[in-house]
Amino acid sequence: MSHAYIWEAENAHEFAKGLNCINNELGDITLIENNSPCNCISCRVFESGNHPDTIYVTGTKSGSIGVDDVREQIILPMATKPFRYKYKVFIVENAETLTPQAQNALLKTIEEPAPYGVFLFVCKHIHNFLPTLMSRCIRKRGRDNEIIAISSELETLANEIFSTIEGKDIFDAFIMYHRLEPYKESKETLQNILSLLYRFYGQRIAQSPHPSLFKSIDAIVKTKKILSQNGNTQLALELLLLDLSNA
Ligand SMILES: [Zn+2]
Repeated sequence: MSHAYIWEAENAHEFAKGLNCINNELGDITLIENNSPCNCISCRVFESGNHPDTIYVTGTKSGSIGVDDVREQIILPMATKPFRYKYKVFIVENAETLTPQAQNALLKTIEEPAPYGVFLFVCKHIHNFLPTLMSRCIRKRGRDNEIIAISSELETLANEIFSTIEGKDIFDAFIMYHRLEPYKESKETLQNILSLLYRFYGQRIAQSPHPSLFKSIDAIVKTKKILSQNGNTQLALELLLLDLSNA
């Protein structure tokens, strides 16, 4: 993941929220982009508009964000660690109104970011950005469609697992384990299946936030973590299916 983005897409706030989501401690971009509803303390505080580690940078002079704004609202606060969460996220709205001097003042901070610092330069167009600033940022124009690009075969499989496991039958869970077996060699595919499952549970939580659904989400996140750390795939999947059917 990068520390600086020029963000022309619509989901800057979802991304900022997802960065500090407690249920996404791996910083899994697929989950962040997917914007599943989440009830964790960080996400709830974010929604209230009082997140201690999200900083909304604004211009004090009408119409532009100048050097003084950048110094006071970005460069100085960047020197201290996040108050409570993993990242200190600076959301610069209307970033096209950053003056060239302000952009210059930011270059060093962007080039050598604190490990906890993330910039989102939210804008409608990039005409006013200096090339030196742009070259230090990832440009984000739309959702990555990472999940949407997954084959319908995987989508069907994830859906099948989700609806079967909902029956809470351990016998069914083991049948589902065999359905996953052909994909065991590809951790990336498994991660995608888990991201899909996460989405299904997230959608269900949005309809009715039952505690067992949060347990299931936790189990999925735990499994994603084990896989990303090259843990034992077979064991991780067996545990996941047991956890899901016991949740
Ligand atoms: Zn959350």
